Amino acid sequence: MTAEVLDGRLVAKTVREETARRAAAFRERTGRPPGLATVLVGEDQASQVYVASKRKNAVAAGIADFHRHLGERAGRAEIAAVLAELAADPAVSGILLQLPLPNGADPGELIELIPVAKDVDGLTTASQGLLARNRPGLRPCTPSGVLRLLHEARVPLAGAEAVVVGRSELVGRPMAQLLLQEHATVTIAHSRTRDLAEVTRRADVLVVAAGVPELIGAGHVKAGATVVDVGIHRTGSGLVGDVRTAEVARVARRLTPVPGGVGPMTIAMLLANTVTAAESRHETTEGGRIR
Ligand code: NAD
Repeated sequence: MTAEVLDGRLVAKTVREETARRAAAFRERTGRPPGLATVLVGEDQASQVYVASKRKNAVAAGIADFHRHLGERAGRAEIAAVLAELAADPAVSGILLQLPLPNGADPGELIELIPVAKDVDGLTTASQGLLARNRPGLRPCTPSGVLRLLHEARVPLAGAEAVVVGRSELVGRPMAQLLLQEHATVTIAHSRTRDLAEVTRRADVLVVAAGVPELIGAGHVKAGATVVDVGIHRTGSGLVGDVRTAEVARVARRLTPVPGGVGPMTIAMLLANTVTAAESRHETTEGGRIR
């Protein structure tokens, strides 16, 4: 068997086009575009590239760009003041604090300053609580991108055995919650899991977000499974994921590539979340007027 490749670039393009149409309709209705504020602290190269790409894609989708770049030495009070200002600005629909912060600073309390209605990364305790309770809210971008890819490929989820490798707040945990809401039977494997291959071989749907290059091989995968590789690692020979793609492709039925799988979906879902945030805010304000 050679696995079907789930093309994240193609699905991401569809999501961006949908989002651009929704952004245009929002602008038509309200007289102003949805707005995304990206907050970058310091000079981390990878973060600069990610933020530039988010801003460029947002503008291309008709979303107004409110970028703030703070110096490496910006303290908590300075970052908090910027977040408070963006929280109060009615033109800003969504706020994203780019992580990691410099010098390994804990972003915990700062993230909580983002109002739940503008939390387009879905990382606040309030957003994660809404997700855990299956209430409407903004969902973290990478796991919701994975779910969209699975839906587009019509992968059956109800009743399926789903295994998520990784339990981070950014990917693994919310991924497991989303799959649970799709009625999958969900198992979370992590760094302390005793026999990883024994657990992952149960999966009809295997989502790998361990951050360990090429951790998952053919021996970890049930024949006919759908395998989603969230990992991204820069190596001497290019980008690789958490999955040994060539050997897993011989066992799996469907597989996401790296690059071109989950990566492009993350930014597309961020844009979709920003428009959703703008729409929800508009609907919940009196008479549709933004206050
Ligand atoms: P993380 O380091 O916060 O979490 C990794 C998780 O994997 C942990 O919960 C840990 O328990 C588990 N783990 C580690 N080693 C393991 C092992 N040997 N066996 C089983 N479980 C193990 O990472 P993260 O933020 O969740 O990201 C995971 C990967 O996804 C990284 O490679 C990251 O670069 C990538 N990522 C990609 C995107 C994207 O847009 N494609 C977005 C976010 C993260």
